[in-house]
Amino acid sequence: MTEIALVFLGTGGGRFATITQTRRTGGIRLTSKDFNIHLDPGPGALVYSIKAGLDPQKITGVLVSHCHPDHCNDAGVLVEAMTRGMIKRRGVLAAAHSVLVGNEDCDPCLSKYHQTMPELVVDARPGVSFDINDMKITAAEAKHSDPSAVGFRFEVEDVGDIAYTSDTEYYQGVGRPYKDVRLLLLCAMRPAGSPWKGHMTSEDAVKIVNEVNPEMVVLTHFGMKMIFKGPAGEAEFIQQQTGVPTIAAKDGMCLNISEKIEVQTHKRETRGLDSFLRST
Ligand SMILES: [Zn+2]
Repeated sequence: MTEIALVFLGTGGGRFATITQTRRTGGIRLTSKDFNIHLDPGPGALVYSIKAGLDPQKITGVLVSHCHPDHCNDAGVLVEAMTRGMIKRRGVLAAAHSVLVGNEDCDPCLSKYHQTMPELVVDARPGVSFDINDMKITAAEAKHSDPSAVGFRFEVEDVGDIAYTSDTEYYQGVGRPYKDVRLLLLCAMRPAGSPWKGHMTSEDAVKIVNEVNPEMVVLTHFGMKMIFKGPAGEAEFIQQQTGVPTIAAKDGMCLNISEKIEVQTHKRETRGLDSFLRST
């Protein structure tokens, strides 16, 4: 059976978790023998990728869910890595319309220059599907302050499906595009009792999990209120309310997905950045 590894190069989200780096904001790396995808490269994606021993030049896809810095800041440098320094047409760049073109609220956050070298550039509007190394990925609607924001569903052959909601508030049907995935990754920015328009609280997460019916839920993308309240306790609340095993991601955490979904006990940080820099 194919095995997928998910490495959380950051679990922070929102302005203050980002500018203080209370939690890292490098996004998530999904790898298997067939693909190597970076999802939402916020500040730190490049540095923590190298620190974790995940060569950014091996990336075959860069996915960006919307135009806010905690999701797109490092997209340009990762595209440069994916295209071997902008000299090889290589890989897939799939990004929300706001990221590539801009919209009423955001200027594009990836330059035209960076959009020229990927082999395929996908304007990931809700419902749009595309392939990365034969894996089908579909963009899904998110309701966030960037009106072009999308989540993604990954259909991984002989493993099952994974979904990532990105930042969204709950609305009826938000979970429909992710129905019955094995693993649901939620951008659980806020704890229960602290709603904020366009963002997800733990109560929203409960409703989304009930719509999706996944095998397992992982919370990530924590804002300051969530970090202070304790993401592990919020995960427990969501698990109690839904009956679905739920954990809160930690920086550097690695999940292995094959027949089972397991948390690797050691963090994916095989060498320190200092020794890496000394050795090069
Ligand atoms: Zn965010």
